[in-house]
Amino acid sequence: MEFDLIARHFTRATPGAVLGVGDDCALLAPTPGMQLAISSDMLLEGRHFSPQDSPAGLGHKSLAVNLSDLAAMGATPRWATLSIALPEADDAWLTAFARGLFRMADLHGIELVGGDTTRGPLTISITVMGEVPPGQALRRDGARAGDDIWVSGVLGSAAMALAYRQGRVSMEQADAAKVLPALYLPMPQVELGIALRGIAHSAIDISDGLLGDLGHILGRSNMGATLEFAALPTLPVMQTYLHETVARNSVLAGGDDYELCFTAPPSRRDAVLAAAADVDVAVTRIGRIQAEPGLTVLDADGQALTLDQTGYDHFAAQS
Ligand code: ADP
Ligand code: MG
Repeated sequence: MEFDLIARHFTRATPGAVLGVGDDCALLAPTPGMQLAISSDMLLEGRHFSPQDSPAGLGHKSLAVNLSDLAAMGATPRWATLSIALPEADDAWLTAFARGLFRMADLHGIELVGGDTTRGPLTISITVMGEVPPGQALRRDGARAGDDIWVSGVLGSAAMALAYRQGRVSMEQADAAKVLPALYLPMPQVELGIALRGIAHSAIDISDGLLGDLGHILGRSNMGATLEFAALPTLPVMQTYLHETVARNSVLAGGDDYELCFTAPPSRRDAVLAAAADVDVAVTRIGRIQAEPGLTVLDADGQALTLDQTGYDHFAAQS
């Protein structure tokens, strides 16, 4: 049964591997001289997705969140493995899940080379492998005093969509329709990560909210930072709701953005903008790295927002 299921749903040609699905191990031949970047992410029903979510969307998102880690490292995606626990072998569900997964895989040239399948509460664990030239990975510990802080895309849409879905905020239906894709169909910034090799000093993908994830760069780099709230990029529709704490929280501390936050010296501003334009991604300068520890967010008048005003603590306690 299981072998059939794997053959039917998860076995595809893998020209980029020596040996793909079907043996005791996959065999991979990394490009000589490149370093391997490896990352795993697990998605649990009830915690990362709900039983009503579409299986195709789930396939998309499961791989997208893993690809986002490769993006944040500046790595070129190569291979993935999928470990999945399923309550039952539902053929229609698996077909849709695999369709979403392989569509995302094809977008970024990553090949599924193995995994494990077992019966149990729906759990999806993916490991991705990518390649990066030695010394060029975008690490969290490379931020330097004076660096600009940048983010790609827009922030807060997915968290706002989740708040809407959970009834924690009310939105016009037409407005909600604008933020919902960010929650269900995140697009990892793989090309941008690669384009930033040799330009960015440090990078992270924003999966747990801007403040927390930028905090990881600051911690690993032993630096502090000042951000300007008014500079944070959002969808135009978010402006309507920014007087509400939920919306401000979504922008500053919401999860599931899967955008890149990175730092680069002011002397490389043009290089950053050219790299981003090359891959057709909007990037916005949102603040500055400093040697003094701490993370300050300034409002439009240059006043520091307190944690209370950002609701950051409150939000963190909820998630
Ligand atoms: P083993 O008992 O040796 O671990 P399995 O029966 O678990 O073998 O897996 C058989 C083959 O199918 C292996 O090559 C494994 O990597 C692959 N495989 C199993 N589950 C999946 C999956 N969900 N996606 C992709 N490949 C899988
Ligand atoms: Mg196995």
